[in-house]
Amino acid sequence: MTEETAAPHRLNVVIVGGGFAGIHAAKALGRLPVDVTVIDRRNHHTFQPLLYQVALAVLSPADIAQPIRGILRDQENTQVLMDEVTGIDAANNAILLASGTRLSYDYLLLATGATHSYFGKDAWAELAPGLKSVEDATEMRRRILLAFELAERQMQEHGWHPPLNFVVIGGGPTGVELAGAIGDISRIYLKHDFRHIDPSKSRVILLDGGESVLQSYPPELSARAGEALARRGVEVRTRSRVTGIGPGWVEVANAKGTERTQAAVILWAAGVQASPLGRLLGAPVDPRGCVLVNAELNPEGMKNVFVLGDLAHFEQGGKQVPGTAQPAMQMGDHAARVIEADLAGKARPAFRYFDKGDMATIGRMAAVANVKWPFTARLSGMPAWLTWIVVHVFFLISFRSRMAVMASWVWSFFTFSRGVRLITGDQTLPGWQEQVDAGEKAGEQAVSS
Ligand SMILES: Cc1cc2nc3c(=O)[nH]c(=O)nc-3n(C[C@H](O)[C@H](O)[C@H](O)COP(=O)(O)OP(=O)(O)OC[C@H]3O[C@@H](n4cnc5c(N)ncnc54)[C@H](O)[C@@H]3O)c2cc1C
Repeated sequence: MTEETAAPHRLNVVIVGGGFAGIHAAKALGRLPVDVTVIDRRNHHTFQPLLYQVALAVLSPADIAQPIRGILRDQENTQVLMDEVTGIDAANNAILLASGTRLSYDYLLLATGATHSYFGKDAWAELAPGLKSVEDATEMRRRILLAFELAERQMQEHGWHPPLNFVVIGGGPTGVELAGAIGDISRIYLKHDFRHIDPSKSRVILLDGGESVLQSYPPELSARAGEALARRGVEVRTRSRVTGIGPGWVEVANAKGTERTQAAVILWAAGVQASPLGRLLGAPVDPRGCVLVNAELNPEGMKNVFVLGDLAHFEQGGKQVPGTAQPAMQMGDHAARVIEADLAGKARPAFRYFDKGDMATIGRMAAVANVKWPFTARLSGMPAWLTWIVVHVFFLISFRSRMAVMASWVWSFFTFSRGVRLITGDQTLPGWQEQVDAGEKAGEQAVSS
């Protein structure tokens, strides 16, 4: 009789979230002798930095979203599950899924990102959608394009239309990108497409409670961004705190008191909070719900649990590492390095975030970039815009996406047109009909462009 040897037990690594952190961790774990399960409630990884381009009809959702299963298909040690994690039993090393399954793990990597925060005013979400997913982006696209269509129809039938005001709330990178892109689409890309309205007469209003837009950037770049927005006709209103949102209006408190502005479309880019899963872990969290992690990216006392990306609160140099793509990718890679060290019986390495800089685009041929690697520079205008293009194409997850995105950008740049102008679903806008009724009742001809 031959002597049988039991196969060595392979450790089971469960990754929750197929965003930047989760995908990077999964890829790095692909070369280790472990079994990996990636769970995401969606079947695709979304390249969030380009979501606003889906919202503004430059790119299709498929250009920036890739099936997670496809990304990891060549990794034999990795399986993908489309399911939502609804509970964590950290004491017994198990997670609970919406489908009812209970899944055990040896290591758990939590990377479920962040979501919008309406600062407790959740009713605003319906009136002012935020931008986090492909669904959000197509909803924004629907509202923006529909506003022009409704104005054209109203103008043709009644000779006037309610003001075509686009109000963007929040002057961080997402708000600046949205406002600049709406400025471009109304002044450049849709200019010749309507017969009864002049899209370039629409107003884009960017509201922020702080002193300037892009406050996390060096002051000179923040000022440049303000100037580039102004060139696109965007009215930047800083020190303006939103106190109310209703169908077709936004109310702000500023130095003059309280003001109400009519709005055809309201977009939210003001606040984020961590995914609710962080609180279910039972570890200390910060006020936004991010889980406090140590140098190995573990919550205190949970050596086999890693919290990564936007969900993690990791401090370096006395400051929290930002909730952006670079830290998320680096944390994903690092968690795999720690597991590799454990397998080899070596000391665990400490995480250090390597800051390569930040950049935000403002529109056609305009961006700002605070580059920290491979050289240091503060760029604006065309050089920043070209840098932004190269970096974003480089980090797209697949070759197909890179080709598709480049082709759409080249097409849009040279033809001054937007190819993905689809309005799908509901054909009403919150507050539009109320504004039409109010205008007619008052005998007002609000705008006759
Ligand atoms: C509009 C926008 C623009 C941005 N622009 C930039 C930029 O220009 N540069 C930059 O560096 N960063 C940018 N960011 C930030 C960057 O995208 C995030 O920091 C990054 O995506 C964080 O990665 P993550 O892996 O932590 O989370 P995410 O990428 O958000 O991934 C989280 C994943 O978890 C899944 N998930 C969530 N909850 C569950 C659950 N309960 N069960 C199962 N799955 C779940 C989600 O479906 C998602 O796939 C932008 C973000 C947004 C929203």
